[in-house]
Amino acid sequence: MRVVVLTGAGISAESGVPTFRDSDGLWEGHRVEDVATPEGYELSPSRVHAFYDARRAALAAVVPNPAHHALARLETALGDDLLVVTQNIDDLHERAGLTRVLHMHGELLSALCRGCGGRVRWPDPLSDLPPCPRCGVCELRPDVVWFGEVPYEMDRIHDALSTCDLFVSVGTSGAVYPAAGFVQAARAYGARTLELNLVPSEGTDWFHEARHGPASVLVPAWVDELGLPG
Ligand code: NAD
Repeated sequence: MRVVVLTGAGISAESGVPTFRDSDGLWEGHRVEDVATPEGYELSPSRVHAFYDARRAALAAVVPNPAHHALARLETALGDDLLVVTQNIDDLHERAGLTRVLHMHGELLSALCRGCGGRVRWPDPLSDLPPCPRCGVCELRPDVVWFGEVPYEMDRIHDALSTCDLFVSVGTSGAVYPAAGFVQAARAYGARTLELNLVPSEGTDWFHEARHGPASVLVPAWVDELGLPG
């Protein structure tokens, strides 16, 4: 059985990482346009660096929750037949032990050089405009895919969606494209589709089945249900 799991901010919520948009429409008190668009960066690189530096530093205070651990168990059982595609920029999947994770929206622990285009692992702040370790130019930006930019690994994701038997979406609002369209693609290729989310997502009607509740409960229960060895 080949499985693709798409995860969003909801899977990390119970670890203490706030989700994307609060009810007031802000991301941790900031307008999305200011901190998650190329235009916001051009307008104020220092504001954007301060925002992501704070998010990066906050990672030290959070740990994976039972939903992340359950997906790691699933990977142990399925190996290459499982692909986790995450919209999250945190590293909680990796810290739970997963090794096959595609970060389609980039990673907090990575920096992208506007000089040479290189991506480098970056656990430190970017506010002080450090030089790129590859080319020496002081143009490192957060390696995060902002609105209007193209997500990473779309070809690999499309290949996996076209060959999977089961597509599961965990903790995502179904509001951010192209991820929100993956359920339709997987269905069109013949996969069964399952939503695991706190509340019905915007795309809930596209799924064959939807279960609603906290990811820390729903994901371990679903993995147990599969009855896989390992
Ligand atoms: P979103 O915040 O738009 O939606 C989160 C969804 O998770 C909502 O539908 C909500 O009902 C659900 N949810 C909340 N708590 C839950 C829980 N305990 N269990 C199950 N579901 C729960 O997130 P999104 O759809 O992933 O889009 C957000 C964008 O913001 C992504 O592009 C991502 O890059 C970025 N982001 C990432 C993080 C992170 O890395 N953890 C956090 C915030 C934002």
